[in-house]
Amino acid sequence: MKHQEIMLNTLIKESGLNGFSDEEIGDDHIYTGLETPMRADAFDITDEEKKEKIADLFGQIMDVMGLDRTDDSLNGTPKRVAKMYIEEIFSGLNPANKPKVALFDNKYQYNQMLVEKNITFYSNCEHHFVPIIGKAHVAYISSGKVIGLSKLNRIVQYYAKRPQVQERLTNQIAEDLKTILETDDVAVIIDAKHLCVSSRGIKDDTSATVTSYYGGAFNTPAKLAELQNYINQ
Ligand SMILES: [Zn+2]
Repeated sequence: MKHQEIMLNTLIKESGLNGFSDEEIGDDHIYTGLETPMRADAFDITDEEKKEKIADLFGQIMDVMGLDRTDDSLNGTPKRVAKMYIEEIFSGLNPANKPKVALFDNKYQYNQMLVEKNITFYSNCEHHFVPIIGKAHVAYISSGKVIGLSKLNRIVQYYAKRPQVQERLTNQIAEDLKTILETDDVAVIIDAKHLCVSSRGIKDDTSATVTSYYGGAFNTPAKLAELQNYINQ
């Protein structure tokens, strides 16, 4: 897996992915796999060290753009950005921040579909580092185990707090839920707005992107119709 990712990265650097330029990869939001591309040494330094480095480097970006960092308004910005990156908006890159999920036995013998809908999330596009704002709908049919409802929400937030592409976010949530719940009967639908599409580039303010993952029983017309009915209510 790692080897493949590195090869793919090299390929992109040398010739662009399938002949696409860096610009095209960004604007067409091409994504390269289920795993967030991370280097093996990603956690060799501590969060505190990361914050110091990012603050220093972000300060340099501001300098290059000609901003006067002695101004009281800008003075603390590099540190604020670094803290926000590591502790908040990109905290989902660190597996240490993964929500702890306890499984419960399905005492009530509830074996129908459970849908947690309209989970609001904020993520960031990995091609442009500007926000993706959306709602996730998550559903599963218990195989005998259940999890607390707030955990579904927390799993969505964890994967959202990474540089993302929507397809990967959808699949990462689905794969994790399948593992946790020990079932293939999992569905994830994400409806989101990408600020890199609305505020720049093509500047389309009305379009939204919908992605879905339907596992196991959700591929039957009856279950799919039931799920869509709940979501549309
Ligand atoms: Zn983008």
